[in-house]
Order: sequence, then structure tokens, then C-alpha cells
Amino acid sequence: MTVEPSTAPVSLPLVFDAPRRATKPPRHLADLTREQAREAVSELGHPAFRADQLARHYYGGVTDTAAMTDLPAAARADLADALLPGLLTVVRHQSADGGRTRKTLWRLHDGALVESVLMRYPGRATVCISSQAGCGMACPFCATGQGGLTRNLSAAEIIGQAVAAAASMAAGEIPGGPGRLSNVVFMGMGEPLANYARVRKTLDALLTPSPYGLGLGQRSVTVSTVGLVPAINRLTEEGLNVTLAVSLHAPDDELRNTLVPVNTRWNVTEVLEAADAYARRTGRRYSIEYALIRDVNDQPFRADLLGQRLAKRLAHVNLIPLNPTPGSKWDASPLPAQREFVDRLRAHGVATTVRDTRGQDIDGACGQLAAADLAESAGIPSVALPQPQLEDTVELGAEQD
Ligand code: SAH
Repeated sequence: MTVEPSTAPVSLPLVFDAPRRATKPPRHLADLTREQAREAVSELGHPAFRADQLARHYYGGVTDTAAMTDLPAAARADLADALLPGLLTVVRHQSADGGRTRKTLWRLHDGALVESVLMRYPGRATVCISSQAGCGMACPFCATGQGGLTRNLSAAEIIGQAVAAAASMAAGEIPGGPGRLSNVVFMGMGEPLANYARVRKTLDALLTPSPYGLGLGQRSVTVSTVGLVPAINRLTEEGLNVTLAVSLHAPDDELRNTLVPVNTRWNVTEVLEAADAYARRTGRRYSIEYALIRDVNDQPFRADLLGQRLAKRLAHVNLIPLNPTPGSKWDASPLPAQREFVDRLRAHGVATTVRDTRGQDIDGACGQLAAADLAESAGIPSVALPQPQLEDTVELGAEQD
């Protein structure tokens, strides 16, 4: 379905429902539950426990079948071909911050392109993953949003980005020696809650201990959303305790309608109430994401309004100086404006941090991911993809495999 936001100057339509894929990605172990994986292995004529062995290798980052020495040599290729097809091909890596930030451009089986960004800090390593190729939420300050939605990723395509990051850390590919992937944030391309079923499966894989997952802590996984209220409510009912981040960017509907067009559907009050319900159920603070845009949303009165709205809530604010996107008329707020914004929020008793902008020089920072453009400028031929079928509607979040 599409909704034309009523407020200028937003020009792109909102797209909630991804176009159907021309061809599904091949079946992958990471799309299956443990039971389904064991069944699939039995159907191939192998003992069911081989599924657990395969899973241990997959989540452990082993891609070379020769290294799967606990599997009979004759069975390795058979099982790997059937259940571990290569879904993500590295097109290229780009590094920044002395190699501690690395952006990867991935090509999917149908030629669609997505990016993930691995960031190593002292004591932790975070990967920012994509949940869709492109995005249908049309936020005018975000490079991905301006490119529109190509398609939803499958669970295995999302999980694969985290598994690859964990493997890179384990192999010592990022300066600082071998390490562990500790955090995953759904802040790459796409709106995770518009691809609910696959993101839900991904959460299971991230949180489940070996062999069927990466065994991350719930607090170390962050789902970031524009504020799809029914999907936030659904997440609240799941019983998960992952960190919820809400991309607010304005405390008032008038401005938010233009910066986050989905606000015309679920307004600031509704979004905050849904996030409150999540916080009540989990006992955990949620995060309010706020990109500071010079003279657009950084005025002292907006800081006060935001402070008033959040003062009694279980929320903290994460300010992101805008990363300007190519051709954008907008710029980051100057430092004095940032400082005043922070001071005013804190004066209202609201916990506030300013996000560092890792990877800015490789267009790897928040809101800069736009794989299609990057591929074009790098001379990578693009593959024709099905055009979005805007009339092809299903209920929000209802699309299943
Ligand atoms: N669709 C999800 C995930 C998107 S990316 C969401 O909107 O939350 C993660 C964060 O980067 C979001 O808060 C998004 O609003 C923010 N962002 C997008 N473009 C940006 C830009 N140009 N500068 C700074 N932050 C940006």
C-alpha cells in the first residue's frame, strides 16, 4: 500500500510492502528452525544430527567444507550444496578509522546490493546490518530512503551479514587481534519492522547459543525503527528484551511529518506510547534517535519540547549530527547548537548522548548507505530487478516465507 504524505516537500511515496521477489534466494539452513533443518538433512539421506554439525560450522564462520572434518568427506559437499548456499558475495570492503571500521558491499543471488558496517571499539565490536535492499520509508535526509525499496531480505541474507562479521572478528581481520562480535544493530539499509517475520527469525539466530546461533546478549542487539506502531506492539508481545531504538528526529508532528513521512500514519504520541509499552514490559529503556539538522530540527524550543515529552519516560536520547547525503540541502548542526540541544535535554532530566560518526569518509555512517549508487560509481554492472509493484499489497508485516 502507499500513502501520500500530506505535507510538502516529501516527494517519495511510503512503501510498506516489498515487491515480490522474482526468484527466492535458495533454501538455507539459517532460514530453518532446528526441527526443519534436521528434517531437511534426513530427507537428504543423512542422520538428523548432521544438521547440528552443519549449524555449528555455519554460525562458527566455517565456509570451507574441507574444514568440516566431523562430517564424512562424502557427505560434506552434498549437505553444504543443499543447505549452505553462498547467499552473500563480497563485492568489496572499504575501511576507515585505521581499519577499525569496515564497510562491506554484498551482492545477493539476484544482483541486489546491500551493505553492512563492522565497527570495532575497545572492548566491543558492533555490526550494523541491512534488513532490506533499499527502504520504502522515504525519509528525505537518508540516502537509503531516497533510493526507494528494492526488496525484503530473507532471514538467511540478514543473518549472513552478522555471521560474516563474527567470522571476520574471530579471524583477526580487523586490527586489534582476533576478537568477538558483541553487538548487532539493525541500522543498515531498510526498515526492519517492515520485514518483520524475517527480522524476527534473525533475532532468534542472533540470540540462540551455538550451534543454532551466535549467542549474543539481548541488550547487545538493537532494532531501530521509524515507528511502525503495530509492529512495535507485536515485538512487545514476543517476550524478547532486545534494545528498541525509535528514529524520532522531531518532537512535533508538523516537522516529523516531513522528516519521517510514516508519521502521517502513526504520530509522535502513538509512537512514544508504543515504545513506552515495550519499556514497561521489558523494564528496559528505549533509545530515541535524533539526527541534528542545522536550522531544521535543532532549535532550542525543539530541544525543550523533546525534553518535556521524554522527561517522565523510560527513554534516552541518542543525537546523531546529520551525515549529509549527496545533493542534500541539509547540513549537520554546528557544535554550539549541538551543545545547547544536549544541555536543554539534560536540564529536563533526559539522559542524552551524541553518537560518534564512524565511517563517514567511506559513506558508512548512519543514513549514508546507498549501495546502488556506490556500485554504479565503482563501475559494477547492476542487474535488472523487478520494479516495485505498488498495488501488490499485503497486510503490514504479514508477509511470510
Ligand atoms: N529504518 C530504521 C533503520 C535506519 S538507519 C530506522 O529508521 O530507524 C539508523 C538510523 O540512522 C536511523 O535513526 C536513521 O534515521 C538515521 N539516519 C538516516 N539518515 C541519516 C543521516 N543522513 N544522518 C544521520 N542519521 C541518519
